[in-house]
Amino acid sequence: MSRVGVLALQGDVPEHQGALQAFLPEHDVRLVRSVAELDAVDALFLPGGESTTIARLLESTGLWAGLQRRLSERLPILATCAGLILLSRTLEPSPSGHDPPTLGILDVQVRRNDYGRQRKSFEAPVRVDGLGKVPFPGVFIRAPRILGVGPGAQAFAFRGEEVVGVRHGPIWGLTFPPALPGDPRLQRALLDAGVWQSAEKPHSRSTARAAKRTPTRTAHR
Ligand code: GLN
Repeated sequence: MSRVGVLALQGDVPEHQGALQAFLPEHDVRLVRSVAELDAVDALFLPGGESTTIARLLESTGLWAGLQRRLSERLPILATCAGLILLSRTLEPSPSGHDPPTLGILDVQVRRNDYGRQRKSFEAPVRVDGLGKVPFPGVFIRAPRILGVGPGAQAFAFRGEEVVGVRHGPIWGLTFPPALPGDPRLQRALLDAGVWQSAEKPHSRSTARAAKRTPTRTAHR
Protein backbone atom coordinates (compact mmCIF):
# COMPACT_ATOMS: atom_id res chain seq x y z
CA MET A 1 0.00 0.00 0.00
CA SER A 2 1.22 3.46 -0.87
CA ARG A 3 0.37 6.66 0.91
CA VAL A 4 -1.00 8.95 -1.81
CA GLY A 5 -1.22 12.63 -0.91
CA VAL A 6 -3.59 15.17 -2.40
CA LEU A 7 -2.23 18.71 -2.16
CA ALA A 8 -5.07 20.46 -0.34
CA LEU A 9 -4.26 24.17 -0.31
CA GLN A 10 -6.93 25.32 -2.79
CA GLY A 11 -8.93 23.99 -5.72
CA ASP A 12 -10.80 20.81 -6.61
CA VAL A 13 -9.60 18.94 -3.53
CA PRO A 14 -12.74 17.06 -2.35
CA GLU A 15 -13.55 15.88 -5.90
CA HIS A 16 -10.08 14.49 -6.42
CA GLN A 17 -9.79 13.02 -2.95
CA GLY A 18 -13.12 11.22 -3.43
CA ALA A 19 -12.21 9.97 -6.90
CA LEU A 20 -8.79 8.76 -5.77
CA GLN A 21 -10.27 6.99 -2.76
CA ALA A 22 -12.79 5.26 -5.03
CA PHE A 23 -10.19 4.28 -7.62
CA LEU A 24 -7.38 3.41 -5.23
CA PRO A 25 -9.12 1.57 -2.39
CA GLU A 26 -5.92 -0.35 -1.65
CA HIS A 27 -4.02 2.90 -1.02
CA ASP A 28 -4.07 5.33 1.86
CA VAL A 29 -5.29 8.62 0.33
CA ARG A 30 -4.59 11.62 2.56
CA LEU A 31 -4.57 15.41 2.37
CA VAL A 32 -1.30 17.35 2.32
CA ARG A 33 -1.27 20.85 3.83
CA SER A 34 2.10 20.93 5.59
CA VAL A 35 5.70 19.87 5.05
CA ALA A 36 5.31 17.10 7.64
CA GLU A 37 2.32 15.74 5.71
CA LEU A 38 4.26 16.01 2.44
CA ASP A 39 7.15 14.06 3.93
CA ALA A 40 4.78 11.25 4.90
CA VAL A 41 3.53 10.41 1.38
CA ASP A 42 4.89 8.08 -1.33
CA ALA A 43 3.18 9.84 -4.23
CA LEU A 44 1.36 13.14 -4.66
CA PHE A 45 -1.59 14.40 -6.66
CA LEU A 46 -1.61 18.09 -7.57
CA PRO A 47 -5.22 19.08 -8.31
CA GLY A 48 -6.66 21.81 -10.49
CA GLY A 49 -7.48 25.17 -9.00
CA GLU A 50 -6.00 28.63 -9.31
CA SER A 51 -2.28 28.28 -9.91
CA THR A 52 -1.44 31.79 -8.71
CA THR A 53 -3.24 31.17 -5.39
CA ILE A 54 -1.75 27.70 -4.93
CA ALA A 55 1.77 29.07 -5.62
CA ARG A 56 1.28 31.75 -2.96
CA LEU A 57 0.07 29.19 -0.41
CA LEU A 58 2.94 26.83 -1.27
CA GLU A 59 5.36 29.61 -0.42
CA SER A 60 3.68 30.68 2.82
CA THR A 61 3.44 27.11 4.15
CA GLY A 62 7.04 26.17 3.30
CA LEU A 63 5.69 23.57 0.90
CA TRP A 64 7.45 25.14 -2.08
CA ALA A 65 10.86 24.28 -0.64
CA GLY A 66 9.48 20.96 0.61
CA LEU A 67 8.28 20.08 -2.88
CA GLN A 68 11.64 21.03 -4.40
CA ARG A 69 13.30 18.63 -1.98
CA ARG A 70 10.82 15.79 -2.58
CA LEU A 71 11.08 16.32 -6.35
CA SER A 72 14.85 15.87 -6.12
CA GLU A 73 14.11 12.59 -4.29
CA ARG A 74 12.00 11.49 -7.28
CA LEU A 75 8.59 11.68 -5.63
CA PRO A 76 5.99 10.42 -8.16
CA ILE A 77 3.53 13.19 -8.95
CA LEU A 78 0.39 13.33 -11.02
CA ALA A 79 -0.48 16.94 -11.75
CA THR A 80 -3.57 18.24 -13.47
CA CYS A 81 -4.47 21.71 -14.79
CA ALA A 82 -3.16 24.23 -12.23
CA GLY A 83 -0.83 21.51 -10.89
CA LEU A 84 0.67 21.05 -14.36
CA ILE A 85 1.22 24.81 -14.63
CA LEU A 86 3.11 24.83 -11.32
CA LEU A 87 5.49 22.04 -12.38
CA SER A 88 6.20 23.31 -15.89
CA ARG A 89 9.67 24.30 -17.01
CA THR A 90 8.55 27.23 -19.16
CA LEU A 91 5.44 29.30 -18.58
CA GLU A 92 4.54 31.64 -21.41
CA PRO A 93 2.76 34.86 -20.39
CA SER A 94 -1.01 34.29 -20.15
CA PRO A 95 -3.64 36.62 -21.65
CA SER A 96 -4.25 38.14 -18.18
CA GLY A 97 -0.56 38.72 -17.56
CA HIS A 98 -0.87 37.10 -14.10
CA ASP A 99 1.35 34.08 -13.89
CA PRO A 100 2.76 32.13 -10.96
CA PRO A 101 6.39 31.09 -10.50
CA THR A 102 6.92 27.45 -11.45
CA LEU A 103 8.94 24.56 -10.05
CA GLY A 104 10.48 24.04 -13.49
CA ILE A 105 10.73 20.24 -13.37
CA LEU A 106 8.33 19.08 -16.10
CA ASP A 107 9.89 19.68 -19.51
CA VAL A 108 6.97 21.43 -21.18
CA GLN A 109 6.10 24.90 -22.35
CA VAL A 110 2.66 25.94 -21.12
CA ARG A 111 0.32 28.92 -21.18
CA ARG A 112 -2.43 29.19 -18.59
CA ASN A 113 -6.03 30.05 -19.61
CA ASP A 114 -5.02 29.70 -23.25
CA TYR A 115 -8.44 28.40 -24.39
CA GLY A 116 -10.19 31.43 -22.92
CA ARG A 117 -12.29 32.20 -19.89
CA GLN A 118 -14.60 29.96 -17.86
CA ARG A 119 -17.45 29.95 -20.44
CA LYS A 120 -15.00 28.66 -23.02
CA SER A 121 -14.49 25.49 -20.96
CA PHE A 122 -15.31 22.42 -23.04
CA GLU A 123 -15.41 18.66 -23.26
CA ALA A 124 -13.52 16.73 -25.92
CA PRO A 125 -12.47 13.15 -26.54
CA VAL A 126 -8.86 12.42 -25.62
CA ARG A 127 -6.72 9.69 -27.12
CA VAL A 128 -4.49 8.18 -24.45
CA ASP A 129 -1.62 5.85 -25.37
CA GLY A 130 -2.34 2.40 -24.02
CA LEU A 131 -6.04 3.01 -23.25
CA GLY A 132 -7.41 1.36 -26.39
CA LYS A 133 -9.72 2.72 -29.06
CA VAL A 134 -12.44 4.28 -26.90
CA PRO A 135 -11.43 7.90 -26.21
CA PHE A 136 -11.26 9.24 -22.67
CA PRO A 137 -13.82 11.98 -21.91
CA GLY A 138 -11.66 15.06 -21.40
CA VAL A 139 -13.12 18.00 -19.47
CA PHE A 140 -11.12 21.17 -20.00
CA ILE A 141 -11.93 23.79 -17.37
CA ARG A 142 -10.06 27.06 -18.00
CA ALA A 143 -7.33 24.66 -18.92
CA PRO A 144 -3.72 25.47 -19.66
CA ARG A 145 -2.45 24.64 -23.14
CA ILE A 146 0.74 22.66 -23.70
CA LEU A 147 2.56 24.65 -26.37
CA GLY A 148 5.70 22.55 -26.56
CA VAL A 149 7.19 19.33 -25.20
CA GLY A 150 10.92 19.36 -24.41
CA PRO A 151 13.28 16.42 -24.90
CA GLY A 152 12.91 15.30 -21.26
CA ALA A 153 9.16 14.69 -21.53
CA GLN A 154 7.01 12.33 -23.59
CA ALA A 155 3.51 13.06 -24.83
CA PHE A 156 0.98 10.33 -24.08
CA ALA A 157 -2.46 11.99 -24.34
CA PHE A 158 -3.81 13.89 -27.34
CA ARG A 159 -6.87 15.94 -28.30
CA GLY A 160 -6.68 15.67 -32.06
CA GLU A 161 -3.08 16.62 -32.81
CA GLU A 162 -2.70 18.64 -29.62
CA VAL A 163 -0.77 17.23 -26.67
CA VAL A 164 -2.84 17.25 -23.46
CA GLY A 165 -0.83 14.81 -21.33
CA VAL A 166 2.91 14.28 -20.80
CA ARG A 167 5.20 12.31 -18.56
CA HIS A 168 8.74 13.05 -17.50
CA GLY A 169 10.22 10.32 -15.35
CA PRO A 170 7.93 9.92 -12.32
CA ILE A 171 6.10 13.19 -13.07
CA TRP A 172 2.86 12.98 -15.05
CA GLY A 173 0.95 16.05 -16.17
CA LEU A 174 -2.51 16.45 -17.70
CA THR A 175 -4.45 19.53 -18.79
CA PHE A 176 -7.72 17.79 -17.80
CA PRO A 177 -8.76 15.91 -14.65
CA PRO A 178 -8.18 12.14 -14.87
CA ALA A 179 -11.12 11.16 -12.71
CA LEU A 180 -14.05 13.55 -12.81
CA PRO A 181 -16.00 11.98 -15.69
CA GLY A 182 -16.28 8.69 -13.81
CA ASP A 183 -14.13 6.70 -16.21
CA PRO A 184 -11.59 4.69 -14.19
CA ARG A 185 -9.37 3.67 -17.14
CA LEU A 186 -6.87 6.50 -16.89
CA GLN A 187 -6.45 6.16 -13.13
CA ARG A 188 -5.98 2.42 -13.60
CA ALA A 189 -3.41 2.98 -16.36
CA LEU A 190 -1.51 5.40 -14.13
CA LEU A 191 -1.61 2.83 -11.38
CA ASP A 192 -0.33 0.10 -13.71
CA ALA A 193 2.45 2.42 -14.91
CA GLY A 194 3.65 2.75 -11.34
CA VAL A 195 2.61 6.37 -10.88
CA TRP A 196 1.29 5.63 -7.41
CA GLN A 197 4.22 3.53 -6.23
CA SER A 198 6.88 4.84 -3.92
CA ALA A 199 10.11 6.05 -5.47
CA GLU A 200 13.53 4.57 -4.97
CA LYS A 201 16.03 6.18 -7.32
CA PRO A 202 17.01 9.85 -7.24
CA HIS A 203 16.28 12.07 -10.24
CA SER A 204 18.96 12.39 -12.87
CA ARG A 205 21.37 15.18 -12.03
CA SER A 206 19.86 17.65 -14.50
CA THR A 207 16.27 17.25 -13.26
CA ALA A 208 17.41 17.38 -9.64
CA ARG A 209 19.18 20.63 -10.43
CA ALA A 210 16.06 22.03 -12.07
CA ALA A 211 14.00 21.11 -9.02
CA LYS A 212 16.43 22.90 -6.72
CA ARG A 213 16.11 26.21 -8.54
CA THR A 214 14.40 28.89 -6.54
CA PRO A 215 11.01 30.01 -7.87
CA THR A 216 11.62 31.52 -11.28
CA ARG A 217 9.34 33.46 -13.51
CA THR A 218 10.12 31.99 -16.86
CA ALA A 219 9.34 33.78 -20.08
CA HIS A 220 7.84 36.76 -18.30
CA ARG A 221 7.37 40.09 -19.87
N1 GLN B 1 -7.10 28.55 -14.94
C1 GLN B 1 -6.43 27.92 -13.83
C2 GLN B 1 -5.06 28.52 -13.64
O1 GLN B 1 -4.52 29.05 -14.51
C3 GLN B 1 -6.31 26.43 -14.03
C4 GLN B 1 -7.67 25.82 -14.18
C5 GLN B 1 -7.78 24.45 -13.57
O2 GLN B 1 -6.95 24.05 -12.78
N2 GLN B 1 -8.82 23.76 -13.94
O3 GLN B 1 -4.51 28.43 -12.59
